[in-house]
Amino acid sequence: MRTDNYARQQYNRACQVMPGGVNSPVRAFQSVGGIPPFIQCAEGAYLLDSDGNRYIDYVGSWGAGILGHAAEEVVTAITAAAKKGVSFGAPTEHETEFAELLRTALPSLQCVRLMSSGSEATMTAVRLVRGYTHRPYIIKFAGGYHGHSDSLLADAGSGVAQLAGSTSSGLLNETQQYTLTAKYNDLNSVDALYHTHGDQIAAIIVEPIAGNMSCVPPLPDFLPSLRKRCDQHGSLLIFDEVMTGFRVDYGGAQTLYDITPDLTTLGKAIGGGLPLAALGGRRDIMTHLAPLGQVYQAGTLSGNPLAVAAGIASLKSLASDGFYQRLTKNTQHLVNEISHIARTENIPVHCQSVGGMFGLFFGVSEPITNYSQACATDKTLFTTFFHAMLNEGIYFAPSPLEAGFLSRAHSAKEIDATLAAVCKIFPTLRR
Ligand SMILES: *Cc1c(COP(=O)(O)O)cnc(C)c1O
Repeated sequence: MRTDNYARQQYNRACQVMPGGVNSPVRAFQSVGGIPPFIQCAEGAYLLDSDGNRYIDYVGSWGAGILGHAAEEVVTAITAAAKKGVSFGAPTEHETEFAELLRTALPSLQCVRLMSSGSEATMTAVRLVRGYTHRPYIIKFAGGYHGHSDSLLADAGSGVAQLAGSTSSGLLNETQQYTLTAKYNDLNSVDALYHTHGDQIAAIIVEPIAGNMSCVPPLPDFLPSLRKRCDQHGSLLIFDEVMTGFRVDYGGAQTLYDITPDLTTLGKAIGGGLPLAALGGRRDIMTHLAPLGQVYQAGTLSGNPLAVAAGIASLKSLASDGFYQRLTKNTQHLVNEISHIARTENIPVHCQSVGGMFGLFFGVSEPITNYSQACATDKTLFTTFFHAMLNEGIYFAPSPLEAGFLSRAHSAKEIDATLAAVCKIFPTLRR
């Protein structure tokens, strides 16, 4: 049984000095209620909180921790780098090495810029496509989350879903009017936007596997059709692979589905837990970035030596033989068994997974293909499940709209323990 006396104190103290006691909204447990655990340390697949509770972690720093917590090669790389200076604001050879590793993994990245967060990468991508095409509009999909820059905060998933209309306040109508929203997995909704805005659409930005409305894979025709529409209309295709990059395959979703986007954004897993992100793609587009071109983007800590060291160490490990086969197999085993227990216990849960990411949808038995379906699942049932699992020492993402993640450190032992907890909890969910 989880105890949270100390977390409660820490949470109250944090709330005095930080909005909601957190530095990123979903951490606050707003969607499930209760007090979030305050983490003391983490190792492998486990988190340890300040009350002494131990959890098997399926959040993994929201996907960044794909090698498991405190992965030895990452810690060694960061330590060695730190001794040589933690930031220079001048070029290093390691940045080139890392960019080359990215290009080897995702050949569409002919040219790469490193940054510190996924939000920065997507924000720059939007500016770059506008600067390159001289067109104002972008198309995104409802429930797609692309970080917190102004033009991408409309109809967004993840923590934005807690806000009225899934849209932030503080955005100018003038900005919002150039962000068009289509329905995920629905080409007709895209065509309707091209019909009204024709040749004024700079780009489509899409999560090739939606991971911010839980886990929603693309239908077979969806991504190829987007590629086709962009080509027909002279728009660019941006794959936001901040979550899916190095998560579903070494080459990301674009390799898995064999689609070549014009631009790709990366983050989360590429830095092995350090702040590292990237924007890359066609050379003729990327060269529009300053200092070569007129589209400005910069960063004091971009290509930071610690982050790049962690990134290089991570990518080298992720390139090892069979890594993604194993990760995918373990993830499939977890969700297949959860589905099986759900059927046996007569609990309505539908599970979806790709590579090392998964989603559990409560109250439904049919595949989920878009945001409105993801939002219509049973939140009460999820919340009961979430807290019951937390009590059993299993930490799932504290919202029905967040995907779950496995890491290298999730072995049969952790998965079996998780399934044992599911077996114990599911019968108590029956009403
Ligand atoms: C997490 C995420 C972002 C934002 O990245 P940050 O590093 O949190 O700024 C952008 N796009 C997608 C698809 C994400 O999952």
